[in-house]
Amino acid sequence: MTPFTYARAIRPEEALSLAASGGSRFLGGGTNLVDLMRETVENPSALVDVTGLSNTIENLPGGGLMIGAATRNSAVAAHRGVREHYPVLARAVLAGASAQIRNMATSGGNLLQRTRCAYFYDNEGSRCNKRSPGQGCDAIDGFNRMHAVLGASDTCVATHPSDMCVALAALDAIVHVVTPTGDRTIPFGEFHRLPGDRPDVETALEPGWLITAIEIPPLPLAARSTYRKVRDRSSYAFALVSVAAALDVADGQVKDVRLAFGGMAHKPWRALKAEEALRGRPATQAAFTAAVEVELSDARPLKDNGFKVALASRTATAVLSELAGASA
Ligand SMILES: Cc1cc2nc3c(=O)[nH]c(=O)nc-3n(C[C@H](O)[C@H](O)[C@H](O)COP(=O)(O)OP(=O)(O)OC[C@H]3O[C@@H](n4cnc5c(N)ncnc54)[C@H](O)[C@@H]3O)c2cc1C
Ligand code: SF4
Repeated sequence: MTPFTYARAIRPEEALSLAASGGSRFLGGGTNLVDLMRETVENPSALVDVTGLSNTIENLPGGGLMIGAATRNSAVAAHRGVREHYPVLARAVLAGASAQIRNMATSGGNLLQRTRCAYFYDNEGSRCNKRSPGQGCDAIDGFNRMHAVLGASDTCVATHPSDMCVALAALDAIVHVVTPTGDRTIPFGEFHRLPGDRPDVETALEPGWLITAIEIPPLPLAARSTYRKVRDRSSYAFALVSVAAALDVADGQVKDVRLAFGGMAHKPWRALKAEEALRGRPATQAAFTAAVEVELSDARPLKDNGFKVALASRTATAVLSELAGASA
């Protein structure tokens, strides 16, 4: 590991000023960053610990929640308002990692965890455009069972690993950020990037920008929402495919719906085409499958991951049918 300095901030302005020097990184629970430092994929010269910043979950006056960036994942999943009004978020968080890791991991750090593409971690032996732009990508013609089928490019086919972020995409979350030139808000759909020709640029954040909170807007239909994750083992494994969904059914018709996929793309994939195809349609299994297939018609599977398309279709259909049944 490369030597680094450590400092702890207790206010956002202090964190920004401590991180002003090039080569510094914010430290949340360290459950991803420290691993990447051990593998010498990331080599910061300074760590600024931001776990002393806000860890509260506040009810917003017009409804909705504001989750401080230092809130541990386990606290998000256990929060009564999250469980009652946004069960999809509680379930997504609980589907991730292990209890010990969720006790350490922060909500800010979860948004910025990096891909689990094995070639990305293999700093000594593999070519990776995300780690070293222009080097090439060993996953494209390699073992790519876990990789993307939507929105990939010919420079990177990695998937985004977070479960929590799939729920946040379905909920239209808003990321609150402090920068050296003022405060900003970033809609969740614009926060993560597709790889394009710059897979090393993963989010809308610029170096030194600090996430302070995640806002969950009021969304009454999210009271009937859920998350389902399909993986190789029943715990402690990243998603092959996951689905976050919320559904409002009235008189047998879909009044409103939110749908997002994990494990399918470089970012949590909001299924806007499927949502559009479903609004005002009968809440039937056939209509769910047809709408999901509209979304998946853009899929471009690789050598080892064609199964993801059918798996995503079946999983989303099952989740929407379950929610429709619950509201009948
Ligand atoms: C064995 C294992 C299994 C796992 N399984 C899953 C899984 O199934 N599903 C899943 O979703 N996740 C899984 N995870 C990942 C885990 O959820 C993430 O490592 C965790 O959420 C990252 O949070 P952290 O606070 O530890 O971030 P850190 O590791 O501290 O930081 C991650 C990144 O965020 C940056 N950062 C942290 N806080 C801020 C901030 N406030 N503002 C700006 N930048 C910030 C850091 O600089 C770093 O770049 C797993 C991890 C491990 C080790
Ligand atoms: S898929 Fe992306 S992260 Fe994986 S090796 Fe290729 S460029 Fe690197």
